[in-house]
Amino acid sequence: MTTTTAAFSSKRLTIVGVGLIGGSLARALRRANQCDEIVGCGRDEAHLQKAVELGVIDRYEMDVATAVTGADMVVVAVPLRAMVSVLRGMVAGLSPDAVITDVGSAKGCVVEEARAILGSRLCDFVPGHPIAGTEQSGVEASFAELFDNRGVILTPLEETDPEKYARVRAMWEAAGANVTEMAVLHHDEVLAATSHLPHLLAFSLVNTLASLDERKEIFDFAAGGFRDFTRIASSDPVMWRDICLENRDAVLEVLQHFNADLRQLEDAVRDNDGEAVVNVFTRAKETRDRFCG
Ligand code: NAP
Repeated sequence: MTTTTAAFSSKRLTIVGVGLIGGSLARALRRANQCDEIVGCGRDEAHLQKAVELGVIDRYEMDVATAVTGADMVVVAVPLRAMVSVLRGMVAGLSPDAVITDVGSAKGCVVEEARAILGSRLCDFVPGHPIAGTEQSGVEASFAELFDNRGVILTPLEETDPEKYARVRAMWEAAGANVTEMAVLHHDEVLAATSHLPHLLAFSLVNTLASLDERKEIFDFAAGGFRDFTRIASSDPVMWRDICLENRDAVLEVLQHFNADLRQLEDAVRDNDGEAVVNVFTRAKETRDRFCG
């Protein structure tokens, strides 16, 4: 989408879901001094009170339609399976000039829901996904630097108003991020491979090791490599359930490729085929060194 990026400012920004991502975005925009007021919304009042105490939001509302009233920018930062109820709940409260965006880790499902719910306001919706996060959850884990020099993918629709797109782009740039654009389906395929598959593998590996008789020794002697590889298995199970199931087709496809490759490696080890094993490891090392420095 061709647009001119203007500086971002907001008189009232509403964040629905003031957790790791929503809270970090609020902190980053505060750091940039770009919002007159930040309003939070969520299910648990204690979490929202904490967000006020931490200075992440100015105030909160428990009802989503009330929370978005008067906001010129609305960011939906709840788990994927909570998006439907939040989008449905906000429609009645949206101001005519409001821009709506989200941060969900899969985009096809959110776009489908937005199409069904937003009606004539679909042109004001700009789907997005920050490629930044940690294995922690909740507002206490949020921090202003989370998006600094990290990517944010926006997946605008045919109907998206270019001015609304430019505003969301400018918001993320003010938060320190580098924005790129991608088609919805392509986003879901790329993220299934680069993020969703590694999380599935980490969860599964930890469980496999935990079920072995020697598990005590395994975890006692787990060193740097194990910790690096499995850090993301400490991520929130509900959030990752939502991501796997909401991006099911792309996840299953990449999982099939992975299973086939793993079976080939297993065969090579069983056959004592050193050449095949070293070929697999060399190809992987060269690829990682080239792309990840
Ligand atoms: P989080 O820390 O658990 O925050 C989620 C927030 O949503 C919580 O503050 C929760 O507060 C609120 N919430 C949950 N259900 C709600 C509902 N029905 N209505 C209103 N608020 C609700 O999770 P997160 O890591 O920030 O993830 C949020 C979104 O960002 C997800 O869609 C995820 O796919 C996406 N994302 C995550 C990462 C990552 O690495 N974590 C990276 C990129 C994108 P209450 O419990 O008080 O309701």
